[in-house]
Amino acid sequence: MLELQENVSLQAFNSFGFDVSARYFVELNSVEQLDMLRQLIDRCGLPVLIIGGGSNLVLTDDLNQLVVLNRISGHAISEVEGGVLCVTAGAGEDWHSLVRWTLEQSCYGLENLSLIPGTVGAAPMQNIGAYGVELKDRMLSLEAYDLNSGETVLFSCEDCQFGYRDSVFKSRYPGRYLITHVTFGLSRTFNPVLHYGGLTGELSARGIESPSALELSDLICEVRNSKLPQPQQIGNAGSFFKNPVIPVDQAEKLKQRFPKLVAFADRSGYSKLAAGWLIDQLGWKGRREGDAGVYDKQALVLVNHGQASGQEILELAGNIQADVFKCFGVMLEIEPRCYP
Ligand SMILES: Cc1cc2nc3c(=O)[nH]c(=O)nc-3n(C[C@H](O)[C@H](O)[C@H](O)COP(=O)(O)OP(=O)(O)OC[C@H]3O[C@@H](n4cnc5c(N)ncnc54)[C@H](O)[C@@H]3O)c2cc1C
Repeated sequence: MLELQENVSLQAFNSFGFDVSARYFVELNSVEQLDMLRQLIDRCGLPVLIIGGGSNLVLTDDLNQLVVLNRISGHAISEVEGGVLCVTAGAGEDWHSLVRWTLEQSCYGLENLSLIPGTVGAAPMQNIGAYGVELKDRMLSLEAYDLNSGETVLFSCEDCQFGYRDSVFKSRYPGRYLITHVTFGLSRTFNPVLHYGGLTGELSARGIESPSALELSDLICEVRNSKLPQPQQIGNAGSFFKNPVIPVDQAEKLKQRFPKLVAFADRSGYSKLAAGWLIDQLGWKGRREGDAGVYDKQALVLVNHGQASGQEILELAGNIQADVFKCFGVMLEIEPRCYP
């Protein structure tokens, strides 16, 4: 049975802690309930919003929608093909718990993505990434329920058209698919990825020469905890802006004006700038506009100091975007998904 609730507060279901409500709300626990969900959608006659952990959402107002809280659970090592371990997980599983479970099963590959909040099913939405690894590097396929046709569709990694914090689900088909299961290709051999984010320096500072996968995961958790605010303590959605990707010649001109500009090589002909550096240069770190603020340890993270609304966070974001554009000629793009 699916229990349809009305006028439900979403405060506990979004990591910013915005107190908006959903006109209708239902918790989905298994794929067997999808037919019933279809009937509810038809009955409500309202657009659907799928929520996992709510850690990448800006909710600016009450939602005249049917909000579906995805809690499809389960995970298993399904088969072994040519040394690749196929791990399939339900979309409602907690992402970090899945990462730790795979490591405990001696399945390696997800360790750099430790402690990213949220669910397995939301991870493909923006191709989550951290410490030099992206979801697309480890995903084999996913299953999704087409909310328009009621069909279940299998997407290969290629079908998802993953990009930097992007996928076909975010750009081409927003709101059309409910991801139900994701399958990863992992390995019994641990090949640590250490080139990114000062991991080697952090390891040698701790006297660790060749870390185990669990040690690497622990280290990443420790570093993340020291840099990022815990949503339970202060509302946030992680990085609020994407790192802008601009043509190399534009980056070089900026570098002449700002020799300390932080830029990395990206796809051919493009450079990726550190958005946090741009924001920091303009003195935004730690600033507040009412209860909407910029985190004092990381300029890329916007925080809710208590009673900020989603609209106020977006206003602060708009002021930062305008300031960065005025000074650097670069438009920052907002990373979380905004609703309604
Ligand atoms: C402190 C903090 C640190 C973070 N660090 C990182 C990081 O290092 N790297 C990174 O990439 N992200 C990071 N994030 C962002 C966030 O954790 C990820 O985007 C995560 O994948 C969101 O998962 P969620 O379940 O909370 O998604 P939600 O916020 O619930 O939803 C996000 C989007 O996905 C859609 N969605 C959710 N579930 C499904 C589903 N089953 N099927 C279809 N659509 C779905 C929603 O409709 C919405 O559009 C961070 C966030 C926080 C708060």
